[in-house]
Amino acid sequence: MEEHFIDLSKFIMANCSYKDADGIIYSIPYDGTTSFKPGAREGGNAIRTASWGLETYSPILDRDLSEVKYCDLKELDLYGSQVEIFNIIHSVSREILKDNKKIIAFGGEHSITYPIIKAVKDIYDDFIVIQFDAHCDLRDEYLGNKLSHACVMRRVYELTKNIFQFGIRSGDKEEWEFAKKNNIYLKMDLMNEDDLEYIKCLNKPIYVTIDIDVLDPAYAPGTGTPEPCGFSTKELFKSLYLLEEVKDKIIGFDIVEVSPIYDIANITAITAAKIARELMLMIL
Ligand code: MN
Ligand code: MN
Repeated sequence: MEEHFIDLSKFIMANCSYKDADGIIYSIPYDGTTSFKPGAREGGNAIRTASWGLETYSPILDRDLSEVKYCDLKELDLYGSQVEIFNIIHSVSREILKDNKKIIAFGGEHSITYPIIKAVKDIYDDFIVIQFDAHCDLRDEYLGNKLSHACVMRRVYELTKNIFQFGIRSGDKEEWEFAKKNNIYLKMDLMNEDDLEYIKCLNKPIYVTIDIDVLDPAYAPGTGTPEPCGFSTKELFKSLYLLEEVKDKIIGFDIVEVSPIYDIANITAITAAKIARELMLMIL
């Protein structure tokens, strides 16, 4: 009987147990600090549903999802204050890394990357964070909150100085000055071969965080703080495929700020699902 039914509530082809999986998908339905347009808490499930519209095979990577082992734990059960919520994200992420599995996290808003990277810090100490985003997210505090999504990379900078920011085209004067003063690798363009060569030379574990608003609002309208003059989906993929050269160094990635209530024809969710598929096929 069961063979006549499918479970669309998980990412496509996610049929491995936690124990046997090399990569763990989990979503973090948190958008509590989003000041402009909340809704990213629904992002993870939108990405899962959208994944069923994709093929499991990637012609670019010549690999199929049936060849890789991943498990979808679905939504993290979050409760309490922001600090308590971050403690849950931190401890779950640390356990996944401790079990020698790769992190595949779906936001939620961008602030959720901080407790994940705290877990990375616990395990690896010295590591690189590559960020694709329209915003530098380097504010020390936003609306009285140091854990706001607008502050996430400032908090991450306290954990590792190896930050590489790509696609950045928005931020306040103080953030840009902070980046300049501290020699943060901040580029308005996407990552190219030279950037990758430099990252490769550092020879450190890599965590990748993708804020979907790095794309132009035309390509990703379903997000809380869309920023014009962004990149096309094809440009972003061209940059992401460069990561294949360092795939063994990548310990996990997240895709954040997908907000289905502002999406049009699921463009943003489908794009996020394809990013997830390609990165999974690359690193697992
Ligand atoms: Mn961001
Ligand atoms: Mn952003």
